[in-house]
Amino acid sequence: MRLVFLILFLNSLFLISQSCAYDFVIKKKIKKNPEYKIAYQKLYNEVIENGFLNSQETYYIPVVFHIVYNQDSQNLPDSVIESQIDVLNEDFRRLNANASETRDEFLDVVGDSNIEFFLANIDSNGNPSNGIVRTYTDRTEFLLVDDVFSTEIALDEVKFSETDGSDAWDTNKYLNIWICNIGVLDVFGFELGQVYGYAYPPTDVDDALATIDSNIVPDWPVDMLSSDENVQGVVLHYTAVGRNNSVANDDGMTENNLGRAAVHEVGHYLGLRHIWGDAIAFSGEDGCSVDDGIEDTPNALDQAGYVCDFNKNTCEDDQLNELPDMVENYMDYSPGACQNAFTNGQINVMRTILEISRPGLINNNSSLHLNNFKINQEGNLIHKVDILGREVNTDNSFHVEIFDNGNVKKKYIIR
Ligand SMILES: [Zn+2]
Repeated sequence: MRLVFLILFLNSLFLISQSCAYDFVIKKKIKKNPEYKIAYQKLYNEVIENGFLNSQETYYIPVVFHIVYNQDSQNLPDSVIESQIDVLNEDFRRLNANASETRDEFLDVVGDSNIEFFLANIDSNGNPSNGIVRTYTDRTEFLLVDDVFSTEIALDEVKFSETDGSDAWDTNKYLNIWICNIGVLDVFGFELGQVYGYAYPPTDVDDALATIDSNIVPDWPVDMLSSDENVQGVVLHYTAVGRNNSVANDDGMTENNLGRAAVHEVGHYLGLRHIWGDAIAFSGEDGCSVDDGIEDTPNALDQAGYVCDFNKNTCEDDQLNELPDMVENYMDYSPGACQNAFTNGQINVMRTILEISRPGLINNNSSLHLNNFKINQEGNLIHKVDILGREVNTDNSFHVEIFDNGNVKKKYIIR
């Protein structure tokens, strides 16, 4: 029994050593709360079965980047963040330069998600912003888990100032992306690979599913997910951000230098799973029989392993007319230069998740308006003083009003 566990465990570590810790994180969550898996599966099925709610309009998502740095090299310049936004927009709109490299057999099923991203121009308190928060931390690294047997995702500590990270902006209104130095975990002297990022699947699922059909709303473990609201978002290792990142090779890898780790993680954030379905080979699961739940992505036995092999067809009997493994899909583990497409089935899931589970993120154009932040702007009046600084009680002469948020108003009465 112990051996089986260890093998299973090592297998999940191999997964994280590849790049993205999504699968690992979900497994930890399931271990802590088995209901999570059932509920997540139900949501996913609902979205796939009912996922034709979406309109055709462009959805614009405001993004805030939290750069949590210890070394100057980790404090990425604005230009790298702007580059990351460009990559997201090109890839999600299928305006990427390598879109022409999608193989013919997939041209009918790939598409433009009509989702765009922009740096938030107003923060959660209604103040002007460039959408980039820089926070120095005393911590030299953030580990995914403190030890391999923990079910807590220690990397979430980057999302709270009290643990030397940066607090989320309202996760119902902003896509929060944290950038930090994700440490490499050492287990019994065996160094595990670098994690480039992870993201949680959608939250607020009860409300979301209520809009579909009240008879089939699953019993989602709200206590766990709603209390997790402040951790919703994406975490990225600082080397994997943007395509003009001068420290991109600090991780010893060149296959992930095009900013597509973020495209992959935002795919997870909007509900997508890995294209090969995350089968656990060591436990006897046949990867070809484990699907990602999306019809137009061919089954694959395993992930691409950072090789762009257009001849690879690991599931010859899959139902999609023996299509090859879709290594050009953003949700595979293939080199960034190889990735160039989301399928229409995946797009359907992402748009539907936005509509029913993350609706507050949707904007009609690529900027936020102060009108939406009025409540926070005014502040509470705390002092009313005259020209000599004395407290006054009247509105009938010149005076200055001072508010608790720092606002000051000078008032004259003209008769
Ligand atoms: Zn992933």
